[in-house]
Amino acid sequence: MSLYDRSLNELFRNNKPNELPKVDETIMVKQKKMKRKEYVPEAFTNTVGSTPLVELTTISPKPNVKILLKCEFKNPGLSIKDRVAEHILNQAEANGELQPGGTVVVASSGNTAAAFAMMCGVRGYKCVAITNEKCSDEKVNAFRAYGAEVIVTKSGLPPDHPDHYQNIETRLVAENPGWFGVDQYNNPLNPEAYYFTIAPEIWEQSNRKATHFIAAASTGGTVSGIGKYLKEVNPDLQVICPDPYGSIFYEYWASQGRVVPPCGSFEVEGVGKDSIPDNLDCGLIDAMPRVRDKDAFAMCRRLSTAEGLLCGGSTGVNVHAAVELAKTLPDDEEFTIVCVAPDSGVKYLSKIYNDVWLTEKGLMPDQEDAEEDDCSTVSVVRE
Ligand code: PMP
Repeated sequence: MSLYDRSLNELFRNNKPNELPKVDETIMVKQKKMKRKEYVPEAFTNTVGSTPLVELTTISPKPNVKILLKCEFKNPGLSIKDRVAEHILNQAEANGELQPGGTVVVASSGNTAAAFAMMCGVRGYKCVAITNEKCSDEKVNAFRAYGAEVIVTKSGLPPDHPDHYQNIETRLVAENPGWFGVDQYNNPLNPEAYYFTIAPEIWEQSNRKATHFIAAASTGGTVSGIGKYLKEVNPDLQVICPDPYGSIFYEYWASQGRVVPPCGSFEVEGVGKDSIPDNLDCGLIDAMPRVRDKDAFAMCRRLSTAEGLLCGGSTGVNVHAAVELAKTLPDDEEFTIVCVAPDSGVKYLSKIYNDVWLTEKGLMPDQEDAEEDDCSTVSVVRE
């Protein structure tokens, strides 16, 4: 007899056939006392934000260090960037930059383009989504599924190359009067969206106990917008911005302003970069640990198998950095580290969660490490 049959039998054992089991009166009373929450239906794309902040129960190496994860993959477009798309579109509509039926152009490593493609479809705008070949098939296919026109350019082009994805956005906007360019790397509405939404959510959900905040950067919007708010409410809070090996942010931050060409490449999507965006406020960043693809992806696999959290590679970067940080914290104080989970692992099933791809890249946890790139320029240590 299966467990299901047995429990049914037990439930009905005191009843004659076709007679309902007795109702527990105490439960009925409790239910009546519960206040009925009014259900207000709303459009799917209006459900951005108010995502859960959960505790990682198996990851922290120390009992006095809590590691919390802000689950931004719970947004309708499965990423944190829905917040930015909503804010920028609202502002552009309010100040007349975007007219009914207009065209929005967005260069992105994937999530911002997906968020705009989704919202443009709903609001009746045409969306031109520009990315490069590094972007996973899942993300590119999502742009199309939402109805965007898609341009995929080469990856690894120098930032001043005319076909670099950001330059294509600039060119299309210049050539097509009336088209609206998102310019997420320099548009101050990007960090502002986070300052006003996710940052207060994090502070309240952590019971105002966050001591550290961790977010790797690409446009810098997340780390700058949230970091600014959290430092305002807790001046002792430390902001940590991990950076993949191969990105130029670390040297820029460590040398306080030196811009070097990228050295080597990395597989994690959506974080690290080849140029410095205006939205990256290095003055807010207290530490910038460098993270390898292999460690980030191993952490993703740990999160999916041990915590039921299917997240993107940048979540692996952030949580790996949290664990390394936790190891350095003293044992006699309580700490609460908040990490962002910017997007869903569903966007990388063919990569991070695919053993064949990981093995081809030499990034399976048990594979021997590939030889290091000779990146002598990135050995700077911050004073
Ligand atoms: N993680 C992922 C997966 C992303 O797509 C992005 C944005 N490119 C980030 C992190 C970094 O966010 P931000 O652009 O706000 O620095």
